[in-house]
Amino acid sequence: MQSLVRAVYPAQCASCGEIVDGDGGLCGACWRETRFVLGHVCDTCGTPLPGEEDGGTDQCDDCMHIARPWRRGRTALTYDGIGRRLVLGLKYADRLDIARPAARWMARAIEPITTPGMVIVPIPSHWTRMFRRRYNQAAEIARALGRETGMAVLPNALIRARGGETQGGKNFDARFANLVGVIQPHPKKGADLAGKDVLIVDDVMASGATLGAATEATYVAGARVVCIATLARVAKDT
Ligand SMILES: [Zn+2]
Ligand SMILES: [Zn+2]
Repeated sequence: MQSLVRAVYPAQCASCGEIVDGDGGLCGACWRETRFVLGHVCDTCGTPLPGEEDGGTDQCDDCMHIARPWRRGRTALTYDGIGRRLVLGLKYADRLDIARPAARWMARAIEPITTPGMVIVPIPSHWTRMFRRRYNQAAEIARALGRETGMAVLPNALIRARGGETQGGKNFDARFANLVGVIQPHPKKGADLAGKDVLIVDDVMASGATLGAATEATYVAGARVVCIATLARVAKDT
């Protein structure tokens, strides 16, 4: 099916739509403008840190001051310029083709934190929101990342119990309070998380409140270790 679709629609740059050779990704111009996260990063959220990589487990200011329930985390891009355009395209503009190159970049970023048998779980989207948008961008990324890495994906292990208010305009404490109990293990499928190392996947990390709530729910379900991975991380100093 995929190769048939590609034969009819040639691969396009995931950012600007320019026709590109091969199996997609970015055109040369967009590639050069994209801020991939490489080298020295925060071990908890993956945001770039100044200075050289020294093999230690350093943290950014945010992760030093905010309790992060997960163990380690990585991101592929910073949420600005093209990184931001890709996230918004995937979230709002039906650009599902972005999931595949996104997964390729994320697969490289998560290499240091994956463990044998680790399973991928996407941040769940509330069904009313999914109805409006027709798909859950985190689940699309998770599925593509599973194909890219060979890791198992448990797409429905976590659920949203109620819609929750939108997160915009709230401070971190209000955001977190608003989310406690909103993300829960699936009454049946949540049991699949017991004893597992779990990688929770989302498109973008800003405050980290949603990922924190999902991590708590994953531990409630009996997971052994929880790590997180995002396509893009909102960096304070950019
Ligand atoms: Zn382009
Ligand atoms: Zn961090």
